[in-house]
Amino acid sequence: MATDLIDRFGRVHTDLRISVTDRCNFRCQYCMPAEGMEWLDRSDLLTFEEIERIARVLVETFAVKSVRLTGGEPTVRARLPVLVAKLANLGVDLSMTTNGATLAMFADDLRSAGLQRLNISLDTLDPARFLELTRRDELAKVLDGIDAAVAAGFSPVKINAVLMRGINDDEVLRFLRMGRERGVTVRFIEFMPLDAQGEWSADRVISHDEILEQASTEFDFEPIARGTSPAERFAYTDGGGEFGIIASVSEPFCESCDRIRLTAEGQVRNCLFALEHVDLRQLLRGGGTDEEIARAVAGEVDRKWAGHAIGQVHFLRPSKSMSQLGG
Ligand code: SAM
Ligand code: SF4
Repeated sequence: MATDLIDRFGRVHTDLRISVTDRCNFRCQYCMPAEGMEWLDRSDLLTFEEIERIARVLVETFAVKSVRLTGGEPTVRARLPVLVAKLANLGVDLSMTTNGATLAMFADDLRSAGLQRLNISLDTLDPARFLELTRRDELAKVLDGIDAAVAAGFSPVKINAVLMRGINDDEVLRFLRMGRERGVTVRFIEFMPLDAQGEWSADRVISHDEILEQASTEFDFEPIARGTSPAERFAYTDGGGEFGIIASVSEPFCESCDRIRLTAEGQVRNCLFALEHVDLRQLLRGGGTDEEIARAVAGEVDRKWAGHAIGQVHFLRPSKSMSQLGG
């Protein structure tokens, strides 16, 4: 009988985010520096067998219900569908966050292997801006990837756009039109202080009020009951689908956070902004038992703090960038 994976504030953790690699085919300005990233050696990465074992222990011991693959860019890890098939066997809600650039090639294989849901990150629909933001000229590939995901039967396909003042804050309507045309759900995400260049400031965050103001100049919509979802959801009144806002900075959802993170090198982190971690790779490779893995994860979750404290004097940035933590 599984027990709850619970922290000292009583939050139950059921959502496991697994970063399968720290590498990426993009270099998004807000996520990693253009040059100078030091990649993990292959031998430092958890193997598929190690990832599967950790996930299995957490599913069996603590009833973890959802697993999301992320990175770095998960699709740059060779033979990813093999890992997807192993995790799909655990009977969890299995999803992935990707930059979408290789989905035209991999969407069908991932779907056949058992991946259920896809979030695609895309921050601008302007090719020149896309090149500047991601340092790659691949907007057309991402748009093809979105269509390939829909054609492969992923439903809903969600597009996550991080809005930043002075960079892409004039694209709300463009994104909403694109979502309606392509049959995907657009979600706007607030810019967080995990950018590799340390250029984040509170005045660059586009608040949900500003997004709704722009959206209402063209569309009629009404709020949908949110439940425990971090996204505020809005349905178009003409039946044209929905869009969402994830206000992680201005309206943090830490109080109901149910996530734990496993990094590509096997660290368990209890928060994106955690300053500490427990090293499961060392435990696994040193012959640790399933019970020891479960105990180590439970200890890390127990230490979780109440919230991320962005904007408060005692807030400290973690030393890792978003690409190393998994978003
Ligand atoms: N490469 C994949 C992708 O881009 O979807 C997965 C990893 S990426 C680190 C996960 C998510 O983190 C993406 O949606 C990305 O937009 C988001 N992200 C990265 N840096 C961010 C920041 N400083 N603030 C908010 N979101 C950020
Ligand atoms: Fe790569 Fe995703 Fe980070 Fe962009 S946001 S650099 S695609 S890991």
